[in-house]
Amino acid sequence: MKVHINQDVCAGFGICVGVCPEVFELHDDGYATVLVDEVPPDLQDLVRTAESQCPARAISVSDDASS
Ligand code: SF4
Repeated sequence: MKVHINQDVCAGFGICVGVCPEVFELHDDGYATVLVDEVPPDLQDLVRTAESQCPARAISVSDDASS
């Protein structure tokens, strides 16, 4: 599973960082970045929670067919 942040719409609320700091980090410029290339299985539920709670809907999750 991969996660992507659209930095054009991310408003830097930091909710994703609060939900899953292992995956999301708030950049000094006021938007979030993704720390991992592939989301580990034990963090996928948290990433989906962050996706649903992001007020800007900037987070998108993609499942690859192999997992
Ligand atoms: S919750 Fe959404 S808007 Fe807020 S920092 Fe994370 S990606 Fe950006």
